[in-house]
Amino acid sequence: MDNLKAFIDICHKLYDRKYVVGSGGNVSIKKDNLIYATPTGSILGFLKEEDITIVDIDGNIIKGAPTSEIKMHLNIYKKRKDINAVVHTHSIYSTAFSILDKKIELLTPEAQIFIKKIGYVPYLKAGSVELAEEVSKRNEDVIILKNHGIVCLGKDLIEAYLKTEVMEEIAKLNYIIHSLQSPTH
Ligand SMILES: [Zn+2]
Repeated sequence: MDNLKAFIDICHKLYDRKYVVGSGGNVSIKKDNLIYATPTGSILGFLKEEDITIVDIDGNIIKGAPTSEIKMHLNIYKKRKDINAVVHTHSIYSTAFSILDKKIELLTPEAQIFIKKIGYVPYLKAGSVELAEEVSKRNEDVIILKNHGIVCLGKDLIEAYLKTEVMEEIAKLNYIIHSLQSPTH
């Protein structure tokens, strides 16, 4: 499967651009009813093609040990037939807003086009069935998990990746604007 190279390139990009650090974050794609996912505890920046795990849509393991958040990915694919890629990161500006329960405004045309609407999910334990269920109830393609990070969905991996980039950029822009409007002296 030749797009596993693209899968690895995107994992490296997520790490290099600091949308995840350490062993945070996970990525999956759906192809021919199989899910290709990052392994549990893996560091996205160092991932190799042979590390990619494979499960079927019900989570039965075909290869390797998938991410501890695989339930969230599987629930999304089951509920959203238009979605073939899921990128979950701990993007720092987006996460900071979620901790303060502040909404992020889609201030630019780019954000309005790429993101359209942000979904918000309350705090639920990472890797839990409850979190998987709550995320998959959302209709939005960009979902903020309180105190945790973001999940971006796409018809393909490039689309999910671009939403991750644009979401963090707009969160940063919101932060800059809030800072400029709140003088400290
Ligand atoms: Zn996470």
